[in-house]
Amino acid sequence: MKVFKFGGASVKDAAGVKNLAKIVEQHDDSLMVVVSAMGKTTNAMEALVEAYMMRDLSLVSERFGTVMDYHIQISEALFDGGVSCISELLSLLEDKLKTEPSLNYDFEYDQIVPFGELLSTTIVSAYLNVVGYTNEWIDIRKYIRTDDCYRSANVNWDLTAHLLKSEIEFSQKQVFVSQGFIGSTENNLTTTLGREGSDYTGAILAHVLEAEYLAIWKDVPGVLNADPRWYPKATKVKELSYWEAIELTYYGAQVIHPKTLKPLQNAQIPLLVKSFVDASEPGTIIKSSEQHEYLGPIYVLKQDQVLISVSPKDFSFIIEESLSVIFQIFSKHRISLNLMQTSALNLSVCVDDSNRLEAAIADLQQQFVVRYNVDLELLTIRHYTNESIDKMLCNKEVIDSQVSRKTARYVLKKTEWLFD
Ligand code: ADP
Ligand code: ASP
Ligand code: MG
Repeated sequence: MKVFKFGGASVKDAAGVKNLAKIVEQHDDSLMVVVSAMGKTTNAMEALVEAYMMRDLSLVSERFGTVMDYHIQISEALFDGGVSCISELLSLLEDKLKTEPSLNYDFEYDQIVPFGELLSTTIVSAYLNVVGYTNEWIDIRKYIRTDDCYRSANVNWDLTAHLLKSEIEFSQKQVFVSQGFIGSTENNLTTTLGREGSDYTGAILAHVLEAEYLAIWKDVPGVLNADPRWYPKATKVKELSYWEAIELTYYGAQVIHPKTLKPLQNAQIPLLVKSFVDASEPGTIIKSSEQHEYLGPIYVLKQDQVLISVSPKDFSFIIEESLSVIFQIFSKHRISLNLMQTSALNLSVCVDDSNRLEAAIADLQQQFVVRYNVDLELLTIRHYTNESIDKMLCNKEVIDSQVSRKTARYVLKKTEWLFD
């Protein structure tokens, strides 16, 4: 069994679905195809949830119409009568939108947003069958079971493995098409695994099914030494160890969801990051290895950062007790710390800017003196060289820095990046 995961960009239109079919057709052994919502559908579904929760009926109808038209147009472009395969799902969604929402935003989100994945996989599976690539559409919510932590549900691994293995072993089919990103509670209520969570679904399935490998098909040739949207001269890294890859996702490299690597590493399953634009290219392989290949500098830029500096009100040292109070406050407000530094009287943390910060800062201010600085960026240079640091920092104002043997990190004032 191999597991292939296709993200939203790969199926953003009918041509994308046809391209997916060409890629999977080249594999005649057993295959689990995991697909995300088409294009930017998840953003559109989030906007729909917002309108639904506000009970703004005309906005609900307008936003539902946009989602519906987009999927109808793709399915009709793929095959005659294509729309019939999604009409039932569209009615189910429309019926849900007519009901009164509960007061639990995250719960309602998880009942609505997953329609993006249900629609995309229904279209992909039907199209593959039409072109003769016989497959079984599976509702992954029956197998990936989670707790009820809506919008970032935690997988019940034992139950998931038990349910999934019995299904796959008894099926006559070789090829399955499944949704990424979604699961369900033991009470059959739909949950989601967090934004961009389809890579993680691919890893869950690969782990449980003991796959030969997981391939994630992207709009880039593999893992590059920087995000090409920011650094146009980025070049491909041929091979990475799990360890290196985990470090990069931790620093914020968005090409792989951070939760993806652990299940793969634990079962020693390689991850291939491949280009759906040119499937014949080898991509990047991530597997267990001493990192033999020379890795030049790899750059990760996190935008929209805030540097928060916390000190005791009474001039006492920042010691374990106060650190634990500060960390608990960040954790309560679900704020992840991207970088931290301590001194005798101060803890500085760099965090993503979000609407949860205001409440966290207010909480901290009850016990500490808090100062903060907005409009910052966090640049990480893994395997830095003096030359790479000079190149990146020229004309930049450094607010804070942290340099270890392999990694240099800089909090920078946001200014335009100019590369020659
Ligand atoms: P998916 O369609 O699977 O959701 P994503 O959009 O999440 O794919 O990931 C692919 C994008 O990740 C690329 O288009 C690229 O802009 C971005 N990216 C960020 N860092 C890197 C990197 N180091 N290497 C390659 N791509 C990167
Ligand atoms: N469709 C979901 C999202 O956009 C999951 C994913 O694409 O990985 O977040
Ligand atoms: Mg993604």
